[in-house]
Amino acid sequence: AEFTALEGQADDGGGEEEAELSQPVLAVVGRPNVGKSTLVNRILGRREAVVQDTPGVTRDRVAYDAQWSGRRFTVVDTGGWEPSATGLQAAVAAQAELAMNTADAVLVVVDASVGATATDEAVAKVLRRSKRPVLLAANKVDDDRLLSDVASLWSLGLGEPHAVSALHGRSSGDLLDAIVKALPEAPREREAVAGPRRVALVGKPNVGKSSLLNKLTGEERSVVDSVAGTTVDPVDSLVELDGQVWRFVDTAGLRKRVHTASGTEYYASLRTKAAIDSSEVVIVLLDASEPLSEQDLRVLTSVVESGRACVLALNKWDLVDEDRRHQLEKELDRGLVRVTWAERVNISALTGRSVRKLAPALRTALASWDQRVPTGQLNAWLSELIAATPPPVRGGKQPKVLFATQAGIRPPTLVLFTTGFLEAGYRRFIERKFRERFGFEGSPVRINVRVRE
Ligand code: GDP
Ligand code: GDP
Repeated sequence: AEFTALEGQADDGGGEEEAELSQPVLAVVGRPNVGKSTLVNRILGRREAVVQDTPGVTRDRVAYDAQWSGRRFTVVDTGGWEPSATGLQAAVAAQAELAMNTADAVLVVVDASVGATATDEAVAKVLRRSKRPVLLAANKVDDDRLLSDVASLWSLGLGEPHAVSALHGRSSGDLLDAIVKALPEAPREREAVAGPRRVALVGKPNVGKSSLLNKLTGEERSVVDSVAGTTVDPVDSLVELDGQVWRFVDTAGLRKRVHTASGTEYYASLRTKAAIDSSEVVIVLLDASEPLSEQDLRVLTSVVESGRACVLALNKWDLVDEDRRHQLEKELDRGLVRVTWAERVNISALTGRSVRKLAPALRTALASWDQRVPTGQLNAWLSELIAATPPPVRGGKQPKVLFATQAGIRPPTLVLFTTGFLEAGYRRFIERKFRERFGFEGSPVRINVRVRE
């Protein structure tokens, strides 16, 4: 059973950067009462609040962020998966099967004070087929007297049994060393570029880009520094807004008013794309006095595909009367469905109206772009959501969402681990609910689905 990273983006038209798992996943399996939860808590070092089990309450401990020796990984407690298979042995074996196909490594826990049971054997039989690393923890070794029983667990065929006492912490450091050694390296996360945050100011010709830039920098003062302007590099401007310095990228063209002769629209759009790509947050200027045009939608598509944070500035608001405003609202409802998450600011580059609202909107958008929801919090929310509204049945099968992690930021990217295909409508539903709960105003959110085949 191979794994597919299919389904791509939920609703943002693809994107140049495939989401990657920035954190490897460790799944913990074993029969009930061997001490899995205790061991998970031990691994977490209680870094995330773990909800105590209350009898009769669905257990929502599913996945958490852990860290050891500077390595971050996600720990999944498969006890929360509740497989539908009948009988304990089949159920635990099914969990092991899922774990094996879902995680980057599997930790199987056995109670050394009991020894290998038939259920443990069944689990081991499944895991011996695993293509990913499997580690064996012999738990409840509270003192040395049990060490000879531990040695007998070699018979499970899963390699060296690591003797631990989850309850007392005995040798859990050695086990964690072995775990991080078995896990694949996490790809490095894209870091914020040092220095001022990078802003792209984009929009169709004559929408007011250079007017706005002039307004922001002050028309009289030539405060704008040309930064790193080599002959090939586009020239950026440092602009102070609201007590913070921002780097407006590729403003040379705007300043020089290199305006379009025929045939240059193609080059203008390339330049727009380049500016967006070198930015972290984009101000998309729209002309509020005119109907939304194809050109506006093309610019918006570029922004959405780039995964950058975004602020929508409706310019020329000084020309907007009551009638136009009603008309505009209808146009925006239709035209901006893919960027409903972006804040809208009504401005006039000519009069200066509300341009000071741009800086707070940029800050909000970037904070969202940088935001990470801890795995525990994410899954506590998700398991409730899915219990209330399960994914629609497809081909007679009910896909299960096992757990989720926020794999990355810039843009925030969720990965849902499932047993089946999730329809686009359901992923949009998850995104909407995710935003209701966690915010993320001003930033796109990507939702990828990893389906076990
Ligand atoms: P799970 O069902 O596999 O998640 O098991 P739990 O973590 O809920 O533990 C089951 C029982 O075993 C609890 O009463 C724990 O306190 C106990 N337990 C867990 N680890 C150890 C250990 O290392 N030594 C001893 N003596 N008891 C343990
Ligand atoms: P760019 O091509 O996007 O850089 O647009 P410009 O800044 O050159 O502006 C194009 C035209 O729109 C100029 O005549 C500006 O004076 C005018 N303009 C820009 N912003 C506003 C605004 O807020 N209100 C009004 N009424 N006119 C504006």
